[in-house]
Amino acid sequence: MNFLLDELATLKSGNLYRTLKQIDGSQAARTIVDGRDCILLSSNNYLGLTEHPEIKAAMKEAIERWGAGSGGSRLINGNLGPHVELEREIARFKGTEAAIVFNTGYMANVGVITALTGKEDVIISDELNHASIIDGCRLSRAEVKIYRHKDMNHLQEILQQTRKYRRRLIITDGVFSMDGDIAPLPEISALADKYEAIVMVDDAHATGVLGNRGTGTAEYFGLEGKIPIQMGTLSKALGSCGAYVAGQFELIDFLRNKARSFIFSTALPPAVIAASIAAIKVVRNHPEIRKKLWENACYLRAGLEKQGYRILAGESPIIPVFIGDETKTMQLTNCILEKGVYVSGIRPPTVPPGTSRIRVTVMAIHSREDLDEALDAFKQAGKETGVI
Ligand SMILES: *Cc1c(COP(=O)(O)O)cnc(C)c1O
Repeated sequence: MNFLLDELATLKSGNLYRTLKQIDGSQAARTIVDGRDCILLSSNNYLGLTEHPEIKAAMKEAIERWGAGSGGSRLINGNLGPHVELEREIARFKGTEAAIVFNTGYMANVGVITALTGKEDVIISDELNHASIIDGCRLSRAEVKIYRHKDMNHLQEILQQTRKYRRRLIITDGVFSMDGDIAPLPEISALADKYEAIVMVDDAHATGVLGNRGTGTAEYFGLEGKIPIQMGTLSKALGSCGAYVAGQFELIDFLRNKARSFIFSTALPPAVIAASIAAIKVVRNHPEIRKKLWENACYLRAGLEKQGYRILAGESPIIPVFIGDETKTMQLTNCILEKGVYVSGIRPPTVPPGTSRIRVTVMAIHSREDLDEALDAFKQAGKETGVI
């Protein structure tokens, strides 16, 4: 087992070694990180729903009614009333015929991609797509073609060169998780129509965030009904856990029969499912939370830019502060933490080498005072480390 020490030493010398931070509080505006009181600016809890009283109450009620665990996989004995209700609610929310729930977004991507494609097929994927999409592609045994980030000419070129395959699946993140920018879905959809390809969008960061009703990237662009495979998570803005795929009835029926990560895994606990149902209701009934999120995102983004930080072009609550160098990124991240603000430094392999950054994510539950305090910490730390 000596190789373990060698490999760990290599990670350490490359400044790529990772450790876990212990969080001793909820995903609120302020929490405790490694024993220190901090403003939390690295959570995907965009709408603050992990804290929402209606959602917590729904979970407690579900525990009393249904117990702790689901006791089995969906196709055997784990398909409880709440699971059925959640899938109906998601389909209604997304405006699709049907929906299917997976235990995580990772499992949804791996399950869907491997169910839909095989050796005779080609998957055409944006270079910045999430790791779970990449792993789904690898497991599928399909040919994989990567197009440059949001480059529609490159996508078209690949479509022209891949006519011989049985199926062609174009996959894109809706909101890119590390850059916070939005995929050009209208252009992708038009190219897919022209070249008879299928489009799948991953709305992990768009669900609850994008669109007037918060239903995601398709709604944001007015493409309802035009994107055949819409995946999204219940674990980010919805504050719960799990993921969904929404689409036509046959797609969902097919996935129930073929997606291995759906079939061979115990269904989520009923209380988690109840939280997701309650969260969708909150998203539907409280658009003002989403409005506050966008106000906070604009305020923080503008404040950081004014201090001289380079913010990657983005249009979401994900604010990537570009640093470049790995070591510098981690220095600044730690310095900001010492000043009581928790943000995450993002390094390879999560992002390409030389593009390390601090990923700041804002929540609807941050007050103006929280954001001003965070901006102060960024200013001081940036000066101390020579970044600004
Ligand atoms: C987080 C994320 C996932 C994985 O979702 P989990 O529920 O955390 O497993 C998938 N795709 C994207 C784009 C993500 O950001």
